[in-house]
Amino acid sequence: MSRLVVVSNRVSMPTERGARAGGLAVALADAMTPGSVWFGWSGKRMPATSNAATIVENKGVTYATIDLSESDYHRYYVGFSNGSLWPLLHYRTGLLEFRRDDYEGYLAVNEIFADRLTPLLKPDDIVWIHDYQLLTMAEALRQRGVRNRIGLFLHIPFVPPAVLHVLPSASVLVRAMAAADLVGFQTHGDRMNFLESAASCMGAAPDATNGFIHQGHRTETIVAPVGIDADGFAQAAKRAANMAETKRLIESLVGRDLAIGVDRLDYTKGLPQRFDAFGQLLHRHPEHLRRISFLQIAARSREDVDRYQSLRRELDRKAGDINGAYSDFDWTPLRYMTRAVNRNTIAGFYRLARIGVVTPLRDGMNLVAKEFVAAQDSADPGVLVLSRFAGAAEDMTEALIVNPYDADAVADAMHAALIMEKDERITRHAALLAKIRKHTAASFCRDFLRRLKFIERATG
Ligand code: ADP
Repeated sequence: MSRLVVVSNRVSMPTERGARAGGLAVALADAMTPGSVWFGWSGKRMPATSNAATIVENKGVTYATIDLSESDYHRYYVGFSNGSLWPLLHYRTGLLEFRRDDYEGYLAVNEIFADRLTPLLKPDDIVWIHDYQLLTMAEALRQRGVRNRIGLFLHIPFVPPAVLHVLPSASVLVRAMAAADLVGFQTHGDRMNFLESAASCMGAAPDATNGFIHQGHRTETIVAPVGIDADGFAQAAKRAANMAETKRLIESLVGRDLAIGVDRLDYTKGLPQRFDAFGQLLHRHPEHLRRISFLQIAARSREDVDRYQSLRRELDRKAGDINGAYSDFDWTPLRYMTRAVNRNTIAGFYRLARIGVVTPLRDGMNLVAKEFVAAQDSADPGVLVLSRFAGAAEDMTEALIVNPYDADAVADAMHAALIMEKDERITRHAALLAKIRKHTAASFCRDFLRRLKFIERATG
């Protein structure tokens, strides 16, 4: 039996689960079956980067973590990963910052990851690397003689070549990604962009199965949308009816409709545009004045990155503007909180909401859209308003699909959701629920790993 070795920037230790917001930790929790290994950064910044991984066992899973020095953390994580790659791969070239020193720090930390992981590997292990922080690690492992099957999954979007080449050194990254045996994407669009980029960077033309060969190495690709445990989440939402927080929320609504948004506080999530759209709803459809409360839960994130601090100030101001313009002495239209909330509590909140507003300007998948659908009461469900630029929109076509930049259109969709007849709500919800039950967190892991293992049998 080959072991699964998962590698991600941050290892989510069992003790801290539930407390952290983010799609990757949720998706991977299922893959970590007994016997598997999870390798990555501990989340700790120390005077020096670790020379070897610290090993902890828990319920049969081996957690192997390294600490990073302050300088490595800043160059690799804050600088290049979150200052360059994150905006670039979300099509925000105007926000991209590039410093050669950060880029070199990124390559160096990917090599350190490879150095620290290599001694832990057994010949039959299957290595599964995750996400944009580790795009060059597969190549670094190869350079260290690692011949194991290596998969790489990108949880965020991939851009077309014309956008990609805004980043100096983009070709180096694409070549390094191709050192994996299997590269996975959330959507067909992302995969196509990668294949076009590979052709542009390396002259590697894709074959009929969307793979290509470069310098004798074959790279295959797969589209594997990340999902959630829909049934488990639905159960949690039902159970939440008895929680004190749920009862307090119901009491505070005094019969008003609830609209809900749940996000990390990130500029990709379209929060200022969403607040504007809610303002437009109250302006264009005044029948909802005093009849609706919008609850936006935004977990603070990446506070070391300047752009996130300025976003927070912008949202504080906008929330104040809306509430200043529309509040009454006994009604506040927008409730805005900037912290993480327990996932079970959120499940209960989704279930109370008439509308889920998921309007990212660009998102790899967006699990909140799926959680909102899973949490609904099938007999009287709320309506999902979903950005066409979320990966989830490729499949979730029965949502009210909007362009998040168009505040009037989003306002109109929210209005349509609020007045939608029950029959239509039930039909749309049933179709969406069937889809999210099909593509779960477990099926995502299974599909990717099955394909990676098949490659092993074919050539290993
Ligand atoms: P991302 O990975 O970019 O953060 P996703 O929507 O794919 O976006 O995943 C977000 C995950 O984090 C979801 O499971 C969601 O419930 C959770 N989450 C997001 N915001 C919060 C919050 N404010 N409090 C608690 N959990 C949150």
